[in-house]
Amino acid sequence: MKELEDRIRRDGRVLAGGILKVDDFLNVRIDPVLMDHIGKEFARLFEKDKVTMVLTIEASGIAPAYSTALALDVPLVFAKKARSANLGQGDVYSARVRSFTYGRDYDILVPSRFITSADRVLIIDDFLANGFAARGLNEIIHEAGAETAGVGVCIAKCFQPGMKLLEEECLHVEALAAIEAMDENGIVFREMKSGEEK
Ligand code: 5GP
Repeated sequence: MKELEDRIRRDGRVLAGGILKVDDFLNVRIDPVLMDHIGKEFARLFEKDKVTMVLTIEASGIAPAYSTALALDVPLVFAKKARSANLGQGDVYSARVRSFTYGRDYDILVPSRFITSADRVLIIDDFLANGFAARGLNEIIHEAGAETAGVGVCIAKCFQPGMKLLEEECLHVEALAAIEAMDENGIVFREMKSGEEK
């Protein structure tokens, strides 16, 4: 998605450790017009996947997941982060996730009444790095007996292993901006195939 790539080039900041800061427009200060376009683009990319709900993790996944759910006209559910899964068993689904940015493990929790075995769930997140967040959500979807319709991420860092791991699980993965390499001198985006609108 050219609009997102241009914005990353203009306002993104590359930090040490393979971290890209996009606080100016994507996950602290949020540009609602860009977010609206992101939601519409995910809705276009997953329009054939019979999505019945969107699932993300608080907090930075919520904005793109909301605009996508709105564009697809389906509900949005977000997993809560907790230090440990000590809530009543049976009424929540949970998975253990390693945080990319904080380097510690945490549990993600979704009340079980919000996902049914009839659901086809679209996972949306702001970033894909090692794939732990998306794989944790995928685990919860399987625990619920539902199906994963796909994974949509605003930014995939292709030099980290998440993209490959999710594709190996035969998931339909879409990234609106796919970064091949980045350092203090700049960011190299993966070329989109001709005809792709992304
Ligand atoms: P993963 O679970 O794929 O390793 O990492 C994805 C999660 O870590 C995302 O939910 C995102 O919040 C965070 N994350 C990963 N890489 C970055 C990054 O470069 N910048 C920011 N701001 N967050 C990131």
